[in-house]
Amino acid sequence: MTKAIRIIIICVLALVVATIGVAAVRTLDFDPPVTLLLNGEGDIYVEYGQEYTEQGAVATLSDAQEKVPVTIVGQADTSRLGDYLIKYIASFGGHTTTAYRCVHVIDSEAPVITLTSDPKSYTLIGEAYLEEGFTATDNYDGVLTNQVVCKEIDGVMHYSVADSSGNVTTVTRTINYVNPDAPILTLEGGQTCFIMAGEQYAEPGYVATDLRDGDLSANVIVSGDVDGNIPGIYTLKYTISNSVGMDATRERIIYVIPKQTEDEPPSAEILPNPGTVIEPNGKTIYLTFDDGPSSHTARLLDVLKKYNVKASFFVTSSAYMDVLTRAAKEGHTIAIHTNSHDYSKIYASDEAFMADLEAIQSKIQQYTGIKSMLTRFPGGSSNSVSSAYSRGIMTRLTKKLHAMGYQYFDWNVDSNDAGGARTAKKVFENVTKGIAERQNSVVLQHDTKGYSVDAVEQIIAWGLCNGYTFKALDKDSPACHHSVRN
Ligand code: ZN
Repeated sequence: MTKAIRIIIICVLALVVATIGVAAVRTLDFDPPVTLLLNGEGDIYVEYGQEYTEQGAVATLSDAQEKVPVTIVGQADTSRLGDYLIKYIASFGGHTTTAYRCVHVIDSEAPVITLTSDPKSYTLIGEAYLEEGFTATDNYDGVLTNQVVCKEIDGVMHYSVADSSGNVTTVTRTINYVNPDAPILTLEGGQTCFIMAGEQYAEPGYVATDLRDGDLSANVIVSGDVDGNIPGIYTLKYTISNSVGMDATRERIIYVIPKQTEDEPPSAEILPNPGTVIEPNGKTIYLTFDDGPSSHTARLLDVLKKYNVKASFFVTSSAYMDVLTRAAKEGHTIAIHTNSHDYSKIYASDEAFMADLEAIQSKIQQYTGIKSMLTRFPGGSSNSVSSAYSRGIMTRLTKKLHAMGYQYFDWNVDSNDAGGARTAKKVFENVTKGIAERQNSVVLQHDTKGYSVDAVEQIIAWGLCNGYTFKALDKDSPACHHSVRN
């Protein structure tokens, strides 16, 4: 075979292959007779352990509006992290159309570090801190105590741990340094005491020790009085001196709390507020809790019950929805916050917001039997974050909700528990400072934050002792609107 003939044969073969190839591609070039569309997003993120709801897909014939059955292959196992591919198949007349959805089972919940504190523990200046103890657990990884990294920075211990998904938690503890020359005075029962008016104050005790003089508890001088019959805030001062003239002092605050009378049980439907009503006599506190229910909500309800104080819960879908049944029964207002709390979803469009609202509304009804017409926007009505998803949406939604008979509530006292306030003490300070500046306070807290829930008993005690009335929000409450900025 000459070289020329070989080239000709190769060219002819190439042409044949190309022709067959083109023919094969051409058959796929025809419009498939079936149109297959996924319901919902192509990528769905589901939190580990939460339920994945298959939204399915719709297949129709391209030229007629007739439906074609869709076969779904694959499923997401939300008890295991990972990406799950779901395949949707629709066949008609020998043509098959397929579509895919990826379900990402993720863990975005950070581990929880719990510190053990010994109130009698102290560290002498110049000595190393002796650890009082801690545990770390994670919803996915379980016990992570051994992986906690501890570091001392400027007298503060920092404890950090990451779970296997990279969620990091850090908590801190301020080291209780004492001067080795001074006596050490410790109050038993803590620095704050709560008693109901009519009960008598029983001193929980104190311990004074000294490196030189030994046990000095018997020499402690207690000044101040508590009258359990007269409501108010009392301070007792404890002082001890040692043989070299060094002192230690401590203070204990005792709240003698006036008794609250029982309220009327809540009505079946919470109606909207027709306008901004200011309490005529003032001095009213509306405690409001967003983002729950959570693992902290039940003990919050215990505190509210102890003082017969009613509060308002702006709820989000969670694994603790059954707590709402109790909350509603105990006279608290259950109101709408959001179903997903995902700004990018709820503020994507008016329709998306309303669909989310309907979803949480139906859950509230399921657990409480109440249809709530009270709402609070995630981020408040003044949020400008929403403009990244839909310009002007807050202006439209605030009007739309009013037109539909809903009342939305913002707040005028921010505990800042979602910001810089990370201790019960700081939350208490922020809240009481804000309340003291106004007649009617709508206080924002989050019952998803344990330290914020820890502050509630002292906030209630402070409020009741200072003559405030605690109320749950209802149709007669001040609407407390921020100015809309998007
Ligand atoms: Zn929120």
